[in-house]
Amino acid sequence: MTPRTLPAAARIDLHAHSTASDGTLTPAELVGAAADAGLDVLAVTDHDTTDGWAPAVAALPPGLTLVRGAEISCRWGGPRQTVALHLLAYLFDPQEPELAAELARVRAAREVRGERTVELLRADGIDVSWPEILAGAAGGTVGRPHIAQALIRAGLVASTAEAFGAAWLGERYRLPKDDIDVFRAVRLVRAAGGVAVLAHPRASRRGPIVPDSLIAELAAVGLAGLEADHEDHSPAERAHVRALAAELDLLVTGSSDFHGTHKTVQLGACTTAVAAYERIVASGVTPVASA
Ligand code: AMP
Ligand code: FE
Ligand code: FE
Ligand code: ZN
Repeated sequence: MTPRTLPAAARIDLHAHSTASDGTLTPAELVGAAADAGLDVLAVTDHDTTDGWAPAVAALPPGLTLVRGAEISCRWGGPRQTVALHLLAYLFDPQEPELAAELARVRAAREVRGERTVELLRADGIDVSWPEILAGAAGGTVGRPHIAQALIRAGLVASTAEAFGAAWLGERYRLPKDDIDVFRAVRLVRAAGGVAVLAHPRASRRGPIVPDSLIAELAAVGLAGLEADHEDHSPAERAHVRALAAELDLLVTGSSDFHGTHKTVQLGACTTAVAAYERIVASGVTPVASA
């Protein structure tokens, strides 16, 4: 497949989730929705899995280019606390054994964490069922949005956003999961021929964020870019991320982080410049796919 030449005004969204993790559209529906939204390029970036790649490629509508990716659950042991962070990995070899094994380990850790979260809820008399939640994930990577759906079904909260409040999954019933050390994750993505971009690095409303000095250290071991335009970043935070990227010679991306009806954001809400996309494509080992 020869990569198609994109127009200068191409609309490129490099972060979206399907039912392979915590999105609500199947991979096939997701690529269809991306074409309907007028996108030229979409990256499918499910949490800790590449299971959505094949069905997305198989259903690729004419005119849409697919970037195969994943969003890897990482942690950094900071001086005061452990910080959770998300690493977008693009165009890597999904068969690379060490990375594939780590992703499988994190998916298993998510199930342990999910079941424990349900035990905590049940101990407080909240009637949610782990088998039902796991069934709701339908074989995809299970996450807190699936537990949020159970809280909605039980009539305890009105929305996913409310379920992520401090009274629920945001704090009271928030448990850590066994994520991948972020330096190891960057090295593994690079070793698998992929391109690593730090997702929403300043999204402080999700929890503690990492200092710029850590981002500089990650750049030194092969981090390629930073996601600047994201709905969880204020205009000032976006500007800060752009300035840091310029200082460290990192590329910048903008993306929707679309999750179907689990979030309100729409495909293409934020987009990436053609030049940044081309830097990613030039560095990855897996070609982009076009129908
Ligand atoms: P987990 O990966 O299981 O820790 O859950 C994190 C996921 O929950 C993120 O990838 C988002 O999809 C979702 N999420 C986090 N915060 C919120 C929020 N405030 N509203 C809706 N979804 C959220
Ligand atoms: Fe998610
Ligand atoms: Fe994320
Ligand atoms: Zn995401």
